[in-house]
Amino acid sequence: MYDFLIVGAGLYGSVIAHEVTKRGKKCLVIDKRNHVGGNIYTEKINGIDIHRYGAHIFHTDDKEVWDYVNQFITFNRFTNSPLAKYKEKLYSLPFSMYTFNQMWGVKTPDEAKKMIDSQREAYIHIEPKNLEEQAIKLIGKDIYETLIKGYTEKQWGRKTTDLPPFIIRRLPVRFTYNNNYFTDRYQGIPTDGYTALIEKLLEGIDVKLNVDFFDQKEAYEKLANKVIYTGMIDQYFNYQFGHLSYRSLRFENEIIETDNYQGNAVINYTEKDVPFTRIIEHQHFTFKQQKPTLITREYSIDWKPGDDPYYPINDTINNELYNKYKMLAEKQDKVIFGGRLGTYRYLDMDDIIRLALDLTHKL
Ligand code: FAD
Repeated sequence: MYDFLIVGAGLYGSVIAHEVTKRGKKCLVIDKRNHVGGNIYTEKINGIDIHRYGAHIFHTDDKEVWDYVNQFITFNRFTNSPLAKYKEKLYSLPFSMYTFNQMWGVKTPDEAKKMIDSQREAYIHIEPKNLEEQAIKLIGKDIYETLIKGYTEKQWGRKTTDLPPFIIRRLPVRFTYNNNYFTDRYQGIPTDGYTALIEKLLEGIDVKLNVDFFDQKEAYEKLANKVIYTGMIDQYFNYQFGHLSYRSLRFENEIIETDNYQGNAVINYTEKDVPFTRIIEHQHFTFKQQKPTLITREYSIDWKPGDDPYYPINDTINNELYNKYKMLAEKQDKVIFGGRLGTYRYLDMDDIIRLALDLTHKL
């Protein structure tokens, strides 16, 4: 009945569905959630787009990808300039002259460099054994203890002395007064939410929600000549080599009777004792200030099978496990594995679009 069955109405599945339909193919998209969009889904509450699965900022250096999304929707000129809060003091992120000024009162790049060098002196010639040593070697003690240690321990659920150094091989450090987090040429937030993008991509295409592919795997596979599968790769193979691991997230929403709760879209909480990692005030993504406002506290939590998988843990054990599944996947004639879960990789939205466009050209 169909040329393509696409499992997952996230960004990857939706771009492929759009592109193959445009080329005259017939497509069915299924998703187990009750909405399209996967993790970039935004939901309107009181006219504000709430990023249900974590804050998403579109940024890219790829002009073709930028032009591609702009065919469907309009982006505002939002620039990501998050803040970090530690013991009632706010610091600018990424680490820049603003941060160094807030931390030590220094005003010039020379003063900041001297300060950092004096704090990392003892670590410069060592081969770091863990993340703590690596961070101090890169940025010195004060920034590490104030802005990296607690946040990283909450993110990973482990002490920085038990985490491998490669997690922060490089740190974005700037000796300029520039607090634009990203260095990409294009950046913004959809003026009408990400869901509008997905809805445009899926216009005129058969979409079935609340449908889990595994409830009737064989029957669904028979419906189409080719399957694009964007779910978890280990689940497709019935976890025969074991489960791939993830970090998960918990979101706690609160409506607050004010038109401006924190004055910024994203504030990271870097103290270990504050249980959440950040607070998002969604209306700042679209430059609104209306009462009431909605905030989301984000908690980083351990993942167990059955929970929502957010961040793949690409350590040696998991990468080896993934490679075993990948070998099985490559032997499948009918099924193509893609997207973040199908390839067990963290991928930004622009990477996802690039990969989806490349695959459709190949197909
Ligand atoms: P998904 O969005 O996960 O879509 C997969 C879909 O498949 C889901 O809808 C799922 O329900 C469905 N599915 C799975 N299994 C089945 C099944 N068995 N049956 C039916 N359906 C199934 N990127 C950026 O560029 N900028 C950001 O600021 C940014 N912030 C992020 C913040 C967080 C917290 C996270 C986790 C990611 C962030 N990303 C960001 C990355 C972005 O979310 C991804 O690039 C994008 O969502 C990946 O799209 P996808 O289609 O591969 O996966």
